[in-house]
Amino acid sequence: MSGTLLVTGASRGIGAAVARMAAERGYAVCVNYLASAAAAEQLVGDIEKAGGRALAVKADVAQEAQVEALFKTLDAELPPLAGLVNNAGFSGLVNRIEGAPAETIRQVMELNVLGSIWCARAAIRRMARCHGGRGGAIVNISSGAATLGSPGEYVWYAASKGAIDSLTIGLARENAAEGIRVNAVAPGFVNTEIHAAAGMPDRLEKIAPTMPIGRAAEPEEIAEAVIWLLSDAASYTTGAILRVAGGR
Ligand code: NAP
Repeated sequence: MSGTLLVTGASRGIGAAVARMAAERGYAVCVNYLASAAAAEQLVGDIEKAGGRALAVKADVAQEAQVEALFKTLDAELPPLAGLVNNAGFSGLVNRIEGAPAETIRQVMELNVLGSIWCARAAIRRMARCHGGRGGAIVNISSGAATLGSPGEYVWYAASKGAIDSLTIGLARENAAEGIRVNAVAPGFVNTEIHAAAGMPDRLEKIAPTMPIGRAAEPEEIAEAVIWLLSDAASYTTGAILRVAGGR
């Protein structure tokens, strides 16, 4: 695979696993992060030590201007864009909706929905044939929450992921003739820090026994699906929402 893959929120969790695997498959990787500079630089160092190419770039992808700056850095420092993984996302603290602060709901929508839209728009401006690009692939990270609704936990987060599914279908149809495939991966429960950040550090242990497959996923198990959707092996797959959720 030639060209650059931008992975948003790649300093840890699913994004870091995708970045690592993409570098092994030959992409130059743009490792976006918000606050975890040391973790992002460590990941870049690991990729370079293994013979790959990577660059860590700090940007709050919820902010349109910072997304534009992120892509300008990528244009200047890395090979042409070949793919985007819209991974950065969060839920806010668990609550019923009537107890959730407006600011939390707004921030979740701004990152999960608008952030993905800003990044997709900037990527399409570079990859679409009508703009002189060479085509490419986008994978949006949705969630099983989009269809489960997350009652009693974070309904607003589930709604943000429902928007990601709609975005995926619309962008796929709008860009199929432009050489860009757009798909989503919808993970179930993955062993990352997102659950502790939502105020439920023991969530995976509690939920694992209720999962049909009996456990949470490791980030690499989600990354495998993302990498497949990005690859030429998925050349006829666009507009798909691939559930990787252990049967849930
Ligand atoms: P995580 O471990 O909490 O990591 C989140 C990543 O996003 C970090 O790299 C963080 O960077 C970055 N980030 C946060 N806010 C950002 C912003 N405004 N701009 C740029 N980057 C930002 O999360 P995860 O569990 O890997 O989740 C990744 C994606 O999978 C999310 O979209 C999530 O909704 C989805 N998902 C996760 C699960 C699960 O069970 N874990 C299930 C379904 C879907 P810093 O480290 O610099 O803060």
